[in-house]
Amino acid sequence: MRDAEFFRRWMTAAAAAVEREADRLTELDSPIGDADHGSNLLRGFTAVLAALDAEAPAAPGEVLQLAGRTLISTVGGASGPLYGTLLRRTGKALGEASEVSDAELRKALYAGVAAVAQLGGAAPGDKTMLDALVPGVAALGTSYGAAGDAAEQGAVATAPMQARKGRASYLGERSIGHQDPGATSSALLLRALADVAVSDGALSDGGAA
Ligand code: ADP
Ligand code: MG
Repeated sequence: MRDAEFFRRWMTAAAAAVEREADRLTELDSPIGDADHGSNLLRGFTAVLAALDAEAPAAPGEVLQLAGRTLISTVGGASGPLYGTLLRRTGKALGEASEVSDAELRKALYAGVAAVAQLGGAAPGDKTMLDALVPGVAALGTSYGAAGDAAEQGAVATAPMQARKGRASYLGERSIGHQDPGATSSALLLRALADVAVSDGALSDGGAA
């Protein structure tokens, strides 16, 4: 079972990954965007950690809902509302329980990803964060590590795609040949979850819980 501390560690690991990769995320957002994805997420996740420190939510669902609200209020552009929705909807699906199972988390993440698709009107193949989130969350049924792998592969696979949603879509065919920044940051988010789950103990990986 996973408690609020586990989810706080996930957000902390995600913030560290965003900080480490912020320059690369912004570089990816420069040929097919406006070169702000790394700085957007860095601002957002820094605020998430501050909010979690200030409010210390006691339930997994509350941790993710606070994180999602904070991203919506601190990150502008497309990715703030989309990532905010992902975490809020996932947190809402987890409810108020003080501990959640891996199966519950997987189901909640499905709901979160579905909400992102609904809000942004995108589907896999459109060269967005969904190209990492959808295969990543699907692979959670295998293991947390497999989810990180599938999300990373999904992000790499956006390079030959033509963008059909978001700012990159304005470029038409010229969006081809560049990896999508949002898919890349989504892979960071799922890899952070995998790292925290694996370090949480043997029960974590392989669906044993
Ligand atoms: P902005 O495009 O407003 O500058 P960011 O640079 O922070 O916002 O985020 C860009 C990322 O947002 C893209 O790489 C893409 O993955 C994601 N994105 C944009 N529009 C959508 C959408 N409609 N659905 C899903 N993801 C989207
Ligand atoms: Mg941008």
